[in-house]
Amino acid sequence: MRKNGGAMKKADIKTYKERLLALRARLRGDVSQMADAALNRNRTDATGDLSSMPIHMADLGTDNFEQEFTLSLMQNEGDTLERIEAALQRIEEGNYGLCEECGVRIPKTRLNAIPFASLCVKCASELEK
Ligand SMILES: [Zn+2]
Repeated sequence: MRKNGGAMKKADIKTYKERLLALRARLRGDVSQMADAALNRNRTDATGDLSSMPIHMADLGTDNFEQEFTLSLMQNEGDTLERIEAALQRIEEGNYGLCEECGVRIPKTRLNAIPFASLCVKCASELEK
């Protein structure tokens, strides 16, 4: 089995895969429970990997982002499920975590907030314009 040179460590990929699977399970399950989790979210699990980042922005950004994300998720379940499936597919193919537009590695801070992100922040914001 060959992996892309710049791909993530296996341990990291395993973590994201588990998150994706958990997220998929939640999406298929109780939505109100998820709303509750979004609104009362304990920040520790969103900031697990930020030790090398400047705390202020990364911290706040991730939290707000994830909360918005989780809430919008509920309005958009079908699409999100598809994106989760696509991300799981990318894990199998060994190119998970790489931007589909420009091929750079998507920062972990972003993947922590959106484990199924397929674009880097730059490309995603280009698309939103
Ligand atoms: Zn990109």
